[in-house]
Amino acid sequence: MQIYWTKINKIIEETPEVKTYLLDCPKDFTWEEGSHTHFALEGFNAGDKPNRGLIRHMSISTLPHEKSIGITTRIREQCSEFKTILRNLKVGNEVAIFKTHSNVPLKREDKNVYLLSSGVGLATFRPLVLDYFERADSVNQIHSLNIDSSRDFLFTDIFQSVPEKKFTSQFVDNRKDYYEEVKNLAKDKDGLFYVVGSDEFLVQNIEVLREQGIKPEQIMLDKREQQLHEFLSF
Ligand SMILES: Cc1cc2nc3c(=O)[nH]c(=O)nc-3n(C[C@H](O)[C@H](O)[C@H](O)COP(=O)(O)OP(=O)(O)OC[C@H]3O[C@@H](n4cnc5c(N)ncnc54)[C@H](O)[C@@H]3O)c2cc1C
Repeated sequence: MQIYWTKINKIIEETPEVKTYLLDCPKDFTWEEGSHTHFALEGFNAGDKPNRGLIRHMSISTLPHEKSIGITTRIREQCSEFKTILRNLKVGNEVAIFKTHSNVPLKREDKNVYLLSSGVGLATFRPLVLDYFERADSVNQIHSLNIDSSRDFLFTDIFQSVPEKKFTSQFVDNRKDYYEEVKNLAKDKDGLFYVVGSDEFLVQNIEVLREQGIKPEQIMLDKREQQLHEFLSF
């Protein structure tokens, strides 16, 4: 396993609680849209065993042509040790990334794609939408639906409807509106439904989609084969 140590080159305050850490792109490091990585802080591999408290899974919110690896995360006032350390990191500090993989690349199957997310889950979808804007081949259209009760919606420069590009974006701030809209979107019995958020959020979305007649193979989750199977066989 290759561990890439790299430096933070910019920190963007997306909202009062959400930051994007832009990391220098190590030579020969590349990734595809929908990727997640293991994001680790200094000292994580100092002992005999890796210190899990200093490692988190994080999606990569950028595409390679942007020349930086973007990690977008919410840091609340009450937060874990990991986020407490992260909050204090500055441009020039080192972090590590390893085991990068995409479970949710953009499927180009001439279908309508629905991106359902909660909060910073939208970070996973940012590169999918950018990839689609660059090349719309074999994707009919994309619709994004994000729920964020803070109402500080993310990436609103990209997540705004562009009819000519067949892209629509919707933000809601409560569960009632969110699940009503999911039911509405699920009227498309042939669509592909990507879902990103907490495990509880995934379970609820799968339940609603399945009730509406959406089949497991139409539902895309950022999970490996085994876990995917467990989630989708509810
Ligand atoms: C494939 C994959 C991709 C992911 N991508 C991302 C991503 O792109 N961005 C992202 O942010 N996360 C992502 N995650 C989730 C990420 O790995 C973390 O689990 C998540 O960010 C929570 O981080 P944390 O455990 O440091 O907790 P925190 O975010 O610090 O806390 C989680 C909750 O616990 C509460 N809490 C924590 N500590 C305390 C305390 N001491 N006292 C009181 N309350 C406390 C917080 O208020 C918060 O509500 C991903 C996970 C997976 C599996």
